[in-house]
Amino acid sequence: MPKSTTKKRAPRTKSKADIARTIELMAEQYGPFSEEPRLPPMDEMVFTILSQHTSDINSSRAFRLLMEKFGTLESVAAGDIQDIEKAIAPGGLAKIKAPRIKEVLNKVLELNEGSLDLSFLREMPLQEAKAWLRQLPGIGPKSAGIVLSFSLGMPAMAIDTHIYRVSQRLGVIGPKVSADKAHDILEEKVEPGEVFNFHVSYINHGRQVCRAQRPKCPECVVGDLCPSRKKFMTKKELAELAASEEQTLAGSSGAPMPHVPQTQESLN
Ligand code: SF4
Repeated sequence: MPKSTTKKRAPRTKSKADIARTIELMAEQYGPFSEEPRLPPMDEMVFTILSQHTSDINSSRAFRLLMEKFGTLESVAAGDIQDIEKAIAPGGLAKIKAPRIKEVLNKVLELNEGSLDLSFLREMPLQEAKAWLRQLPGIGPKSAGIVLSFSLGMPAMAIDTHIYRVSQRLGVIGPKVSADKAHDILEEKVEPGEVFNFHVSYINHGRQVCRAQRPKCPECVVGDLCPSRKKFMTKKELAELAASEEQTLAGSSGAPMPHVPQTQESLN
C-alpha cells in the first residue's frame, strides 16, 4: 500500500473573541487587578535580571542591597564585578547575574549616548522598541516584554511558564509554538487594552488551577472553552461533568426550574 501523503491538519487555535472571553472569565474569578507602581525602565531591567530563577522576595532584597551599595545604576555600570556580586548575593546566582547586569548597563550607555534613561522607547512602535531591547546581551522577549509593559505601559507580552502552559492547553497558541514565538502571536491576538488583564489572569489561573501537574479541570472557570479538559479528567469526573451538562440542558429546554415560582399561565 502506498503511504498516504495527506498531511495532518494543525489544530485550530482560538479566535480573538474566544481569547477575550477567557480573559473576562478569569478576571471575574481572580480580579479585579490593580497595576502596581512602576519602576523606571532601566531599574525594571536590572530587577528582571535579578529575578531570574529566584523568588520575588529574594530579588527585591538583592535590588535594594545593590542600590544601597552603589546609589545609582550609573555607579553600578562603573563598579567592580566582585562588588556587584557581593551586593546581590542574597538573591542567588550572583556569579552569573553580576557580570550580566554590568554588561547590559554598559551596552545601554554605549547605544544611548551615555544615558540610562530608556523612556524614549515609549515613543517607538512596539516592534521597534522590542528590537531595541533585544539587541542587549541576554535580553530575550520575556525580559523585553516586562520592561515595555510593566515600566512603560506598552502592550507588550511577557510570557512566563504559567502563561505559556495555560495558552497551550487552552489552544490559544498551537502545541508546537515556542515560548519566544508566542510573544508575537499573542500580541496580535490580544487587544492592546487587555494585555495587562491577560497577563495577570493567565498567571493566576496557571498558579491556582491550571497547574503543571494535575490541573483542577473540574473547577476550571474556562473549562467549557478548553480542548485539553478531557485529557486531564478522570472517568468519574467526566461522567459527573456530562451529567451536570445534561441537567443544564434539561433546565434550559422547558423543564421547570427549581425554586422558580410557577405562574398560573406557565402551568397551563
Ligand atoms: S480545563 Fe483544565 S487544562 Fe483546560 S484550562 Fe482549565 S485547568 Fe487548564
